Amino acid sequence: MSEALSFDAEYDVVVIGSGGSGKSAALTAAQGGLNVALLEKMPQTGGTSIYAEGTAAFESSEQKARGVPDKEGKKFPTKEEGYRRYVDYSHHRANPDVIHALVDNSAETIDIYKSLGINYSEVTIYAYDQPNELYTFHRPEGLGAHCQEVLLQAVEDAGVDIFTSTRAQHLILSDGAVRGVVATDSSDKTIRLGARAVVLASGGFGNNPDLVEKYSWFSRTAHDMYQCVPTQNTGDGLAMALEAGADTESLGALMIACCARGKTLTSHSSGAGSQPVLWVNKTGKRFASEEVALSFADAGNVMAEQPEGAVYAIIDVDTVTHLIENGSDIGLGDFIPYHEKLVRLQTELDQDVADGIAWTGGTPEELAEAIGLDPQVLRQTIDEYNDACDQGEDPVFFKPSRFLRPVRKAPLYAINMAPSVLVSCGGIRVNGDMQVTDRDYTPIPGLYAVGMEASGLYGDTYNLDVPGTANSFAHASGRVAARHILDSVKADQATPVAAH
Ligand SMILES: Cc1cc2nc3c(=O)[nH]c(=O)nc-3n(C[C@H](O)[C@H](O)[C@H](O)COP(=O)(O)OP(=O)(O)OC[C@H]3O[C@@H](n4cnc5c(N)ncnc54)[C@H](O)[C@@H]3O)c2cc1C
Repeated sequence: MSEALSFDAEYDVVVIGSGGSGKSAALTAAQGGLNVALLEKMPQTGGTSIYAEGTAAFESSEQKARGVPDKEGKKFPTKEEGYRRYVDYSHHRANPDVIHALVDNSAETIDIYKSLGINYSEVTIYAYDQPNELYTFHRPEGLGAHCQEVLLQAVEDAGVDIFTSTRAQHLILSDGAVRGVVATDSSDKTIRLGARAVVLASGGFGNNPDLVEKYSWFSRTAHDMYQCVPTQNTGDGLAMALEAGADTESLGALMIACCARGKTLTSHSSGAGSQPVLWVNKTGKRFASEEVALSFADAGNVMAEQPEGAVYAIIDVDTVTHLIENGSDIGLGDFIPYHEKLVRLQTELDQDVADGIAWTGGTPEELAEAIGLDPQVLRQTIDEYNDACDQGEDPVFFKPSRFLRPVRKAPLYAINMAPSVLVSCGGIRVNGDMQVTDRDYTPIPGLYAVGMEASGLYGDTYNLDVPGTANSFAHASGRVAARHILDSVKADQATPVAAH
């Protein structure tokens, strides 16, 4: 017998989180005729989806219209190629049903956006030097921020009740089924919202160092990470799902970018430090071929493994001049476009040095003293690195010669680089309909997880070789969940009352 439940308001669906996945779920459910509430704990909607530059899709109308990518000899991937890539890249840890939810629905996302008025300027890859990337990156005009504005309007037009500054705290359960949400509203008042279904679209736990320590591969440096965007994805959905008896899957991978501490991803000192220049850690020694910078996801992994997550990008004034006059050697999406001239670099470096977040010196020893490294070790590292540059060969890490820029001409600079979690990847176990399941893979009635809150796509690292995956999954999974809710509601309504 169900306990009697009391609510301040009742909806068909309550969606927790208003990024790409939450808005997509809310829009689809509302357009299907359901009564929907969308809760967002921040004062504005959009979450990390505001920052997304591109969305992955397979066999989309944009790819078909273009025929082939702008790059000679390349082709757009089929759905099958996409499916296989997720399986291979995750070493078969990805869930086939979840992969299908993304791959099979990604082209529709592009058409929906187009119907809402968004134009796609390019279908490309993320990093031009990465030979393995698939040409899936659909870049909308106005990027993620514009997409979120357009989606917000669509959600409002569809009649969704949007509650900002409202944080979901707990699920309301009855007889093992989810029946609603307890939230705290903008005036700190507790509200109880009833729902036939709750969709967890709260973006994962990337901004919660305690959960990063507990669940990710990067426990050691969890509290040393730098947060480069002011998002608040703190694992609330995961906590609620666990309370409801959910299982987790493939927790551990994080999408980590490299960013200068105290700076933004678009700052030119951050852009310079993200180039494949000489990187040392606290020991004063190199630890990788800095060529890894070509994939920010791999570079993030490498930086997050260093003691205290501390990496110093060491450049001399010739490299500063090169980056200002000739532009970046590699790009970082739209944050640092490929070959963009880093014209603000000298001004920023001077300010960063004055602010104590970068360092300068006339010699390696002086630079080491300024940073707090062992001067002899840094001198040796720089001497060996300069020898490698002179030889055009890196005998230790085999960095390609085109990235071997000596550190010789004073002044020398050290940029304080840090791993910056963008989002967590992997989390609550779901099936192909985005229903949250328990350890036996049995769905928890009325509970769904979507976007970065849901697991099933990743192995140990974010899949940058299918660029735009996270954002694509956010939109596709939101719709998939909403459609399943719509079907369940219809089935409920078709069932004779006596059969209950
Ligand atoms: C700087 C940056 C750049 C990125 N670029 C790309 C890219 O180019 N391509 C790509 O594919 N991916 C990119 N990503 C990843 C991006 O996060 C995903 O693409 C995707 O859009 C995430 O969507 P989501 O709906 O799962 O989460 P989000 O968009 O983050 O939305 C989650 C929302 O839930 C809210 N929330 C959390 N807890 C609660 C609670 N208890 N109650 C109410 N609300 C809550 C949050 O405040 C947030 O608004 C980027 C991420 C960052 C940070």
